[in-house]
Amino acid sequence: MIKNYLIMAASTNYMLRADQCLKEAGIKTLLVPAPSEYGSVCATAIKIEKEYLKKSKEVLEQKNIKLNGIYEDKPKKLIGLVEKLSKDMISDEFLNILKRIENGEELSFEEIVILLKAERKSEVGALFHAADQMRKEIVGDVVDIRGAIEFSNICRRNCKYCGIRKDIDINRYRMTEDEILEVVHEMNHMGLQTVILQSGEDIWWSSEKIISLLQRIKKETGMKITLSIGERPKEEYALYKKMGANNFLLKIETTNEEIFKFIHPDDDFNERVQCSKWLRELGYLNGSGNMIGLPGQRVEDIARDILFFKEMGINMIGIGPFLPVEGTPFEKYPTGSVEMTLKAVAVTRIVCKRVFIPATTALASIDTDGQTKALKAGANTIMLINTPPKYRYNYQIYTDKNMVDLESAYKAIKESNRILPPYIKKEDENAGDTKRQ
Ligand code: SF4
Repeated sequence: MIKNYLIMAASTNYMLRADQCLKEAGIKTLLVPAPSEYGSVCATAIKIEKEYLKKSKEVLEQKNIKLNGIYEDKPKKLIGLVEKLSKDMISDEFLNILKRIENGEELSFEEIVILLKAERKSEVGALFHAADQMRKEIVGDVVDIRGAIEFSNICRRNCKYCGIRKDIDINRYRMTEDEILEVVHEMNHMGLQTVILQSGEDIWWSSEKIISLLQRIKKETGMKITLSIGERPKEEYALYKKMGANNFLLKIETTNEEIFKFIHPDDDFNERVQCSKWLRELGYLNGSGNMIGLPGQRVEDIARDILFFKEMGINMIGIGPFLPVEGTPFEKYPTGSVEMTLKAVAVTRIVCKRVFIPATTALASIDTDGQTKALKAGANTIMLINTPPKYRYNYQIYTDKNMVDLESAYKAIKESNRILPPYIKKEDENAGDTKRQ
């Protein structure tokens, strides 16, 4: 039986207006990534409960909101999932959850915890298999490739885990606008469509300077832009959006407020969440993510993180292991587990469904096959590091950061039997037999 409906507005502006009008009329809404049949992979739908359908239609008509349509929110079934598994070594409890995934049912907090706690090889394998099938049906086989430029390693904050925190003794740099543009042009030449501009919270990069950079990138290359520059006032986020920024990445790292406070001595959990809400309201494709293996973190915390991503309508979710960095207060803490990170990737795919999940650089740094493993457990994106060599070794947000380049991306895509995006201009032999859409 259909319990919810999805409203697809004619544009992002209409979607945001529609969401606001519905909320003002007392209708509970949720912004969710649109299913593939109703819009592109970046599209956002407004989810409402069935009981509000009639009232929602009236409100939207009164307010002259242009819609593409209102559709039933059909459960995403994974036909044949359980049938394909060898069930001998899978407990009844675990099998029942897999059946619920197969039937397209929403998982509870307790069920998410059980999935994350899977330890038997057969159950972990079944979890990855379910996530991989969900990924295939929802976002297909193409691995999206994006490139990041770490344009400043100067930061005003002191996050205890971070290798570019304010109090750590490293060589600091700021790339000039011309240097950044030179790299952006190289990326454009490679065929990349999205540039990620990443930095510490460096307030020297004022809104005027960021806007000038955005305008030049748009004018000279037309590439999509993801900003990852930390917490800023809402007005600045709005300006960046107006001037061409498409996506924003602001990781929550953990939704456990005590752990958040412990690892972020000069930051506030509620402010971080508020920033994320503003970004969503402003129509950004909204990125977040968490770290696995933080001091004091429990499996239940990871389950709450995943539900937070779902409830916030996050479109890009970066999940990486905690990596201790020399010279930080956390240098002696143990590294996060690869397996738990992969399980978190898999459960996030199953719960959040149509989202971008990168096979993270952090994972590649502790396991040379980490990216391939993540691609087989539900991930569908790879982020290259395009920072010029003379700077990149000073952007060690964690020790021994693996430099993910096109070569290693090709390798991971090939090994996971996936497909290169059509926009990549292949120029070398190594990618010779990697499939392409
Ligand atoms: S995690 Fe981000 S905000 Fe915190 S110290 Fe590192 S760069 Fe700065």
